[in-house]
Amino acid sequence: MKFSDYPVHALMEIIERPPLVFVRGQGSWLWDSEGRRYLDFIQGWAVNALGHSPEPLVRALAEQAATLVNCSPAFYNAQAARLAALLTANGGLDRVFFANSGAEANEGAIKLARKWGALHRDGAYEIVTFENAFHGRTLATMAASKKPGWDRLFEPKAPGFPTATLNDLASVERAITPRTVGVMVEPIQGEAGVIPARPEFLRGLAALARERGLLLILDEIQTGIGRTGKLFAYEHAGVRPDIMTLGKGIGGGVPLAALCATEAVSCFAYGDQGGTFCGNALAAAAGIAVLETVLAPGFLDGVAERGRYLADALATLSRRRGLGEVRGQGLLVALELGRDAGKEVVARARERGLLINSPRPSALRFMPALNVSREEIDQAVATVDAVLAELGG
Ligand SMILES: *Cc1c(COP(=O)(O)O)cnc(C)c1O
Repeated sequence: MKFSDYPVHALMEIIERPPLVFVRGQGSWLWDSEGRRYLDFIQGWAVNALGHSPEPLVRALAEQAATLVNCSPAFYNAQAARLAALLTANGGLDRVFFANSGAEANEGAIKLARKWGALHRDGAYEIVTFENAFHGRTLATMAASKKPGWDRLFEPKAPGFPTATLNDLASVERAITPRTVGVMVEPIQGEAGVIPARPEFLRGLAALARERGLLLILDEIQTGIGRTGKLFAYEHAGVRPDIMTLGKGIGGGVPLAALCATEAVSCFAYGDQGGTFCGNALAAAAGIAVLETVLAPGFLDGVAERGRYLADALATLSRRRGLGEVRGQGLLVALELGRDAGKEVVARARERGLLINSPRPSALRFMPALNVSREEIDQAVATVDAVLAELGG
């Protein structure tokens, strides 16, 4: 079918979308309604951890759909329990609450920190967050986010989110008051353009939090579940958070997120937290399929290895074409173009059958499936090269 055959006018306009309708995906590839094929280095925003419709996910969903979809969060189900145990056995702290989106998991993290502050810190509730941070699109998570321009949206803002500067420990100290209960940070600021928090900074933050009796809250929604070559990005820095949130890749494309916390911080009382779809068996089965694949021997080493291969290829391209820095870790990588050509490069790459994203006007972001092949990486980099040649860059 043609684009004009689809009733897209019935959808609310929330973002500028190209005149395409995607109808099928397999691995690193997507097909539009006119049969054109695209190499997908967006993967639903680092969501399809194993690519489109991977066999373990398809099988788990089909079997679970035929067995039990949802029995209410007021009952235990086997899949949610198994997934929580898989997470906690592999660095996902001690207790897990499942949610349906990253923003919802972060809302839960904010609530849990405030509850802990009410119980143990005399009602402290402020959570220090960082310039350019992205934590979601609910009212509280938008207030916690420091995306340029968001400060004037949907007023009045939820209070209690003082701002510090990433990789500047002194700015965090300045933001701390007697009302502060925690610090929330992304190990790599994804939406800001793949800006890594330095390992020394994360260690300093963990030490500062311990010294001041504050909670270290890591938003691993984009960096978790193998994206950086380790199951969780905090492992690179050797810190242990008190609270961690997961989303995106954990469901392999199915809506699933998680709020993880240490035993000491897991202080919700009955009725404090919940949600109709939270921990439903279908989404949890998807999470188990993803996690078992990512935890299989050698898989994460492969992610790290393919990440280096991608970063090396982009660095070579950057040197040859006089572009800027390549940054990130594992398969979350950005290329700085040195000029505000991101939007143009993204559009022309799409015309050539490559889907990439430009989180900032001057940067391209690459977040392929964790099982992307070297040939697919070569093809993506060659397409970007061809686009830059066309643009005379
Ligand atoms: C995507 C993202 C979120 C929000 O997740 P949603 O599922 O879109 O609500 C929060 N934090 C980070 C770091 C993210 O990348």
